[in-house]
Amino acid sequence: MKYTIKAHPTKYNGVKFRSRLEARWAAFFDLCLWDWEYEPIDLDGWVPDFRVTFPCSHSECSGSHSLLVEIKPYYSISEFQGHPCTRYAFGFCDDGPTRIEIPADASASFGVNPSVTEFEMCHGHGGGIYDISGWVDGARELWKTAGNKVQWLPK
Ligand SMILES: [Zn+2]
Repeated sequence: MKYTIKAHPTKYNGVKFRSRLEARWAAFFDLCLWDWEYEPIDLDGWVPDFRVTFPCSHSECSGSHSLLVEIKPYYSISEFQGHPCTRYAFGFCDDGPTRIEIPADASASFGVNPSVTEFEMCHGHGGGIYDISGWVDGARELWKTAGNKVQWLPK
């Protein structure tokens, strides 16, 4: 996969991110009041960009959900195909007889904006495939605001 988008290290909230896109996601999570950690853990073959935690008020959930998130400058979810971030639906992956669990409800793929997001997790008495829009009101506006917070300004 060749990127046509150049990664530009960007500082936000005291953290230096590898790309402006990652910094923008951090700003977005703040606007959503989601807790986030940057590069929280090294998994075998994958260093997730974020671990995020967000509230869930469903009576059958424990009050929140968590995701290990990969950020890529992709315009389509299908571009994530084959990446480890697609492997841990419901927080685990069966590798032959071995079950590998991650410290989150699911792995997640987040692209160039909130409409390019996907994760599969338990929720309520079931679960399924979700994107950001089901969990954040006004994601489009918040994404614009997040962009303003990390925009490049000439010194
Ligand atoms: Zn839930």
